[in-house]
Amino acid sequence: MSENLLVPCAQCASLNRIPRDRLGQTPRCGHCKAEVLGERPFELNTGNFARQCKGDLPLLVDVWADWCGPCKAFAPTFAQAAAQLRGRCRLGKLDSEANRELAGRLGIRSIPSLILYRDGREVARQSGALPLHPLLAWLNGQGI
Ligand SMILES: [Zn+2]
Repeated sequence: MSENLLVPCAQCASLNRIPRDRLGQTPRCGHCKAEVLGERPFELNTGNFARQCKGDLPLLVDVWADWCGPCKAFAPTFAQAAAQLRGRCRLGKLDSEANRELAGRLGIRSIPSLILYRDGREVARQSGALPLHPLLAWLNGQGI
């Protein structure tokens, strides 16, 4: 018997129960039928943030804004990391301009900012973009 993990759906944030050994088999959400673990970063917002932080897989948040050049330059790297870490870590993007109050509550002072959550709690934070390999190494240092 494989251990069951609780994983929020990238699309609708419903919690899904997925056996660990099936994480790599593109499981579908029992509620909305979308892929629970998409290959691309998903959108975080004020409405889904608390639910998306939950579950048994860590969540890496990229806090960005449309007017921020470094954020835009970092987007392809973040997308590559999402594809590589699929099934191990969930990657979501939070638009700080569209979710100002939430960004304020998170204490965001500069963007891009990366925040790593585990079990609904912040466990690490990085200000500024990283190239892919240093990013993966940083996550590796956090046990991912
Ligand atoms: Zn869903």
